Amino acid sequence: MKRVLIIGNWKMNLNVHEASILVKRISDLIQVHREVEVAIAPSMLTLQPISQQIDTRKISLAAQNAYYKDEGAYTGEVSFNMLRNLVKYVIVGHSERRIYFHEDLEVIRDKVTAAIRNDISPVLCVGESHQEKTEGETKRVIHDQVTTALSNLTAEDVEKVVIAYEPVWAISTFGGELAKPSVVKPIIDLIRYNVKELYGEKAAASLRIIYGGSVDDQTAPGYLEIEGVNGLLPGSASLNYHKFSEIVNSAYRLTHKKP
Ligand code: PEP
Repeated sequence: MKRVLIIGNWKMNLNVHEASILVKRISDLIQVHREVEVAIAPSMLTLQPISQQIDTRKISLAAQNAYYKDEGAYTGEVSFNMLRNLVKYVIVGHSERRIYFHEDLEVIRDKVTAAIRNDISPVLCVGESHQEKTEGETKRVIHDQVTTALSNLTAEDVEKVVIAYEPVWAISTFGGELAKPSVVKPIIDLIRYNVKELYGEKAAASLRIIYGGSVDDQTAPGYLEIEGVNGLLPGSASLNYHKFSEIVNSAYRLTHKKP
């Protein structure tokens, strides 16, 4: 059985001191589980100090973004190469970056490529906007986002990728309308089908697909029960240590319930 992955996206919140307090609180409330992997994505600035504080058997680190060139005159950027050995994951293609920072399909493809080149698993976020959903464009949007982002990778590389299905309309930043598990399930299946068509059965079976969009401690079990969902990417709820640890605990309970 694949380990369930819970990644908390802290977005642009918490200074170094506040981040350290939250990590301590979360660490006190969660256990090391063979079946559940917990990761947090704090700000770039706090990654280094937090790496000194965490027990990596309990909590892995993820960056929220990185630049696709390995080094050079790119003022203000941090490369995947610099994050090597510091983080296990980097979130790529989050809707806030696609919308606020105009990251297009090609930039996201180059970031996914750079992550793999630097031995980091990209957490590739895909999802349709509210307008695309109403216009019946969901399948096409997901197909284009998935296939372009993975297009420089081999089937073996694809096994290291995590895809997060995050419908834009369900993210708290953009309205936070709750997506019913029955709406999420066919898209999870579609993503795996798209990967299978391009990279074969093994890559499609190995790749982890997680869900994000206003997930909290109340809604987490419903999403985790969806067949084919391998974890969750909560944003705002991950800043609340009670809610976040409860999400982790519900993942633990479910892995023990599943046959
Ligand atoms: C996210 O940041 O990826 C996210 C899903 O945020 P929220 O849970 O706040 O909707």
